[in-house]
Amino acid sequence: MKIEVHKQISAPKKPKPEGELGFGRYFTDHMLVMNYTEGKGWHDARIVPYGPISLDPSAMVLHYGQEVFEGLKAYRSADGRILLFRPEENARRMNVSNRRMCIPEIDEELWVHCVKEAVSVDRDWVPYEEGTSLYIRPFVFATDPFLGVRASHTYLFMIILSPVGSYYPEGIKPVKIYIESEYVRAVKGGTGFAKCGGNYAASIRSQMNAYAKGYTQVLWLDGVERKYVEEVGTMNVFFKIGGEIVTPALEGSILPGITRDSAIRLLRDKGYTVTERRISVDEVLDAAEKGALEEMFGTGTAAVISPVGELQIGDRHILINNGEIGPTARWIYDTLTGIQWGKLPDPYGWTVEV
Ligand SMILES: *Cc1c(COP(=O)(O)O)cnc(C)c1O
Repeated sequence: MKIEVHKQISAPKKPKPEGELGFGRYFTDHMLVMNYTEGKGWHDARIVPYGPISLDPSAMVLHYGQEVFEGLKAYRSADGRILLFRPEENARRMNVSNRRMCIPEIDEELWVHCVKEAVSVDRDWVPYEEGTSLYIRPFVFATDPFLGVRASHTYLFMIILSPVGSYYPEGIKPVKIYIESEYVRAVKGGTGFAKCGGNYAASIRSQMNAYAKGYTQVLWLDGVERKYVEEVGTMNVFFKIGGEIVTPALEGSILPGITRDSAIRLLRDKGYTVTERRISVDEVLDAAEKGALEEMFGTGTAAVISPVGELQIGDRHILINNGEIGPTARWIYDTLTGIQWGKLPDPYGWTVEV
């Protein structure tokens, strides 16, 4: 397939941010835009100067939330290469989300090509400091000017890019997690496995409640029995119990993380037993009581690994591994980030050069 991305390069360039980059606060000089029109398909992929877009107030996304997104990063290696991590997995996952939300699929080769073209135009924006990267946010939304409820006939696909700081500027610090027993994030048959804005909109209430109580994030339980662990904040979750690694199985309400998949692969190849199954909060609490809960951590693109140091459910408080990062979480973090920044060999062929 021949793919042409028309480029309208802007000059002069924006000044690069100085000091702490943080997450998602600064955007590069350009963005990628592609249209979908029924009958014509996806067309007119183009790179244009970054800036506000004009949207009809009746655009369907603003009313019914027909939208999906992705998140991945570009990393600058010590030898000056720019590397993506498993971008074809993001392309595939966006189409899984698209199918669920009745959004037309995007050719996966075209998708990866668009990401590479967008990063390539703004490659100066991939930051140099240790632990920093360029966050890539592809997204699609419904644009029909119409208030009826149906699938839109027109969409925009966009890619915006944001230089982001190290997630752990002061070293990896385990987080405090509150077990949410009032609200749920997703149910089987809903949209939990799709990366769509609506899942996030529904999660903000409990995230804010957790913040107000002094916790970093919430641990989500299943929506039917409020018994089984599903995810931690916006990350997949892992436990190490008596030497075995356990992570909830993907049964429709959990987002299939690419970091999750990569961690499972690394752990199994290292000789760990990794079991994907249902795991109840009671099992976690029992394991903690018996001293068998060795580690707990979240996985996701933004943080890679986020160790959980403290858990709170009702008035029960649990300290995990003395509130410190455990050896398994540390090993996955070092190995994955080593591959992502091109510091370690990549036996899996996970990195893709731009
Ligand atoms: C994106 C996301 C994850 C992590 O996925 P990665 O591909 O590892 O970044 C986990 N849970 C939710 C709800 C997410 O949206």
